[in-house]
Amino acid sequence: MTSPRSYTLLGADGKAYQSTEPGTLGGHRRSKIYGRLDCPGALRWIARGHYVTQRVFFRDEVTAIAAGFRPCAVCMPEQYRAWKSARAKANSTSHVPMDSEGDVSSGQR
Ligand SMILES: [Zn+2]
Repeated sequence: MTSPRSYTLLGADGKAYQSTEPGTLGGHRRSKIYGRLDCPGALRWIARGHYVTQRVFFRDEVTAIAAGFRPCAVCMPEQYRAWKSARAKANSTSHVPMDSEGDVSSGQR
């Protein structure tokens, strides 16, 4: 009889919890970057012994993003690009949209 292994994963609220399923994504607690478990960049850090204490794991991508992490540019270039453009869009919402032609015609009739 085997007792289920428990894994420490990071939840969407950024708090660690115990799970019986291993995480599918790794992350760095300090830099708030998540990536593949076999990310070449992460493995290099682990080999040096620096990374391990800051290593966190996520059940999936949604959880990682909810916890405030961003995709790793090295092993997840597509997700990183999507994240970058999404952030640029979010930043631009405070600006007045360029195509506000409705205001121009309403002032002069
Ligand atoms: Zn990576």
